[in-house]
Amino acid sequence: AMSQTSAPSIDDWRCPVCLEMLCKPVVGACGHVFCFWCEHKSMDVFDKSSCPTCRMPFSNLPAVCEALHFHLGRTYPKEYARRLRECHEEEKKTGNFSPNPTPVFLFDFSKVNEILSRGLQNRGSEKRLFDFLEAQESMTEPDMNAIFECTPGMDDVETHVLWEPVVLNCGHAVCKSCASSTLTFGPGSTSLCPCGDCRMRVVGDKMPAVCKLMQRVIEASPIAERVRREAAAREEAARLNAETELAEEEEEEEEEEEDHD
Ligand SMILES: [Zn+2]
Ligand SMILES: [Zn+2]
Ligand SMILES: [Zn+2]
Ligand SMILES: [Zn+2]
Repeated sequence: AMSQTSAPSIDDWRCPVCLEMLCKPVVGACGHVFCFWCEHKSMDVFDKSSCPTCRMPFSNLPAVCEALHFHLGRTYPKEYARRLRECHEEEKKTGNFSPNPTPVFLFDFSKVNEILSRGLQNRGSEKRLFDFLEAQESMTEPDMNAIFECTPGMDDVETHVLWEPVVLNCGHAVCKSCASSTLTFGPGSTSLCPCGDCRMRVVGDKMPAVCKLMQRVIEASPIAERVRREAAAREEAARLNAETELAEEEEEEEEEEEDHD
């Protein structure tokens, strides 16, 4: 079936605070997306901070959302390189540097060699990354499996493409339904990010809202229909699982009651 959703255009990737293209995007628990530094500057050091768009309160600065960072680098390499360069120049003035997830592995390695052969290897690593990005062709077809991947950390669920992604404070994204089967939120939560890399503790009072911008990219992709069907099948399996567990618990309780007689 043809996808009904149109992919976000370059204007949809503007940060609501600085009105420039997002630079190292972070996603709040409300699902809204900002530049790392715009979110950082909007934080209140003495009190609870709130989302510049919807005013939802938050207390932890989210890490850079790798999926959106990589997606921007691939889709708008020249524009994104310019933003990263600008951001880096600002950071040099203040001496505070934002975290730098390096998207190089997602690109064409023949180009890396070409750039290295131009003698750029002696320059700073950030500059090399920006030059590298600028030399890229934009990839309008996103590599869904590489960028928008959900590793839910469940034994019986394989890695799959995200559907209705929620972005955790560590910057990693999980499908909303995968998150609700594996993670708990709230003050007593001991849940860890299921990505397998960061193992950061899940923070926040409740499940984050779906990042609509990311969901739009996925819905507009050529594999959207398949991803939607797979997500529906996982949800159905999780529902059946929960029902079976509940029935087993009830049976055990009944058996215990019988034992007492
Ligand atoms: Zn911004
Ligand atoms: Zn918000
Ligand atoms: Zn994580
Ligand atoms: Zn998932």
